Amino acid sequence: MIIRILTLFPEMFEGPMGSSIVQRGKDKGLLDIACINIRDYADNKHKKVDDYPYGGGAGMVMTPQPIFDCHEAVTKAFGEGKRPRTIYMTPKGRHFNQAMAGELSQEQELIFLCGHYEGIDQRVIDNLVTDELSIGDYVLTGGELAAMVVIDAVARLIPGVLSQSESYEEESIQSGLLEYPHYTRPSSFRDMDIPEVLISGNHKNIDLWRRKMALRLTLERRPDLLENFPLTKQDKKLLEAIKDEAQKKD
Ligand code: SAM
Repeated sequence: MIIRILTLFPEMFEGPMGSSIVQRGKDKGLLDIACINIRDYADNKHKKVDDYPYGGGAGMVMTPQPIFDCHEAVTKAFGEGKRPRTIYMTPKGRHFNQAMAGELSQEQELIFLCGHYEGIDQRVIDNLVTDELSIGDYVLTGGELAAMVVIDAVARLIPGVLSQSESYEEESIQSGLLEYPHYTRPSSFRDMDIPEVLISGNHKNIDLWRRKMALRLTLERRPDLLENFPLTKQDKKLLEAIKDEAQKKD
């Protein structure tokens, strides 16, 4: 996958896009990520990229010219006839989720556009942007952190980026449930012991315990997820047991 990030602050990406899973994707040749500085495309003497909003009001708006020229140059470099998805990060966008991460991980090329100040001129959105995505109901200073969140979530789903032992299938949300709790060595730490079943060697019981914990967490924290989850007969039994246990506690 080729990802190009159109931003006024390319230096913000150096750490997150140069370590961990994203770097592994790059090392394996599965991911090619580069930042393009929108300011380099400003055609005025002072490389100005923002201006006052028409109609008045607070703040500045990113001007269309540098973004159009930058987008054109990036698209051209992808090759003749390519029209890569162009994602504008904005609190006005659709809420990003795991299903969208999966969908975006199938693309060959992606362009991310990061806004700053009050945002970008609407003509950019109307003509160049294919998707408007928000990472949540809060306002960030710029789209850079939001783009990093989306890119990280997408990169780990590209086939081959995660090793087989790091399968994402059972992870929270991806599986449709919240994941069960994890424990590692030592089995006893400061008088806190791990659940016995995990060292029983009985994998059937371990799987059952994990399923029950996943169902319990989901019921407690995200009951909405259970509404559309295809519960098995055994899940239903486990949920009844969980509810009984909770009632007895109260
Ligand atoms: N005036 C804009 C509004 O009310 O919708 C907010 C502008 S915000 C200060 C600056 C930039 O940060 C936006 O253009 C967008 O690129 C990015 N941004 C802020 N919050 C975001 C969020 N929740 N998700 C994605 N991008 C966000």
